[in-house]
Amino acid sequence: MPELPEIEATVRLLDAAVRGAEVDSARAPGLATMRTFAPSLDALAGGTCSGLRRRGKLLLVGFEGGGLEAPATLVLHLMSAGRLQLWEKRAGPRDRTVRLVVRLRGGADGFAEERELRLREFGTKQAAWGKLLLDDQVAVDETISHLGPEAWPDPPDLTELPPRRTLRGAIRDQRVIAGIGRTWADEILWTAKLAPLRRCGDLDDEQRARLRQAMIDVLGGALGLYMDGGVDPADPDGKPRKPLALPLPDKLPLPLLVHRRTGQPCPRDGTTLLAVHYEDDEMTYCPTCQTGGKPYKDRRLSRLLKD
Ligand SMILES: [Zn+2]
Repeated sequence: MPELPEIEATVRLLDAAVRGAEVDSARAPGLATMRTFAPSLDALAGGTCSGLRRRGKLLLVGFEGGGLEAPATLVLHLMSAGRLQLWEKRAGPRDRTVRLVVRLRGGADGFAEERELRLREFGTKQAAWGKLLLDDQVAVDETISHLGPEAWPDPPDLTELPPRRTLRGAIRDQRVIAGIGRTWADEILWTAKLAPLRRCGDLDDEQRARLRQAMIDVLGGALGLYMDGGVDPADPDGKPRKPLALPLPDKLPLPLLVHRRTGQPCPRDGTTLLAVHYEDDEMTYCPTCQTGGKPYKDRRLSRLLKD
């Protein structure tokens, strides 16, 4: 968290607001946040924001003019606890969650006053990071060049999945396919009725097609709910949700049917959902519709997961 649907929704909402905005200043109160030194964040002042886009789980914020010698992109990775939000008030000095601030004026939504695009991070760790790269460096930077094809809206046919890896390990590996983390991996594998620790090479064509379709449906379904509102399939009350709006909430309610629902009934067959743990990873699965009635044992798991 946040993964492809959350990043895509963030990018769409922020782009519609701040594209074309003038940059007053940019700074990084998070001392370890910026991983590049040139161009410096100071070079953004006086320029404009050319818009936001997404690659995998990365947010790409474009800038031009000001002190920049050429158009540049601020590449941001929110890691597990970061958010990119837009605020109409300046950040207070006591807000310890602030890692990076770009102060803007105006934008595509016609807002005339000053606003702050803020990278905030919750929890004690400083893991979220940014790189400011000239545009001709973006595609060759290792954080971008090592990414696999996008998991949505048109994932590859999955014949190239590494045969000896587990499904769970492979679809979470950004070099194999970009955009899926531990949250949506649980939902996708449950939707496709596939065992998380199955070897990729064991899948037949029909199962590969099922997995690909589950990526499209699950990631696209979550994004649709964020952007258009509607009924959250995981909400027992079935009360329609409103579309997301700025500033994005600190905690986005995710429409999850299995992830973190260990001990609750499988929405498909009522079997109690189980979890397996390995190092810092936890996966939730249904032993009826995913692993053929057999729960995983942890010893088997630790051997299998060394991939
Ligand atoms: Zn089930």
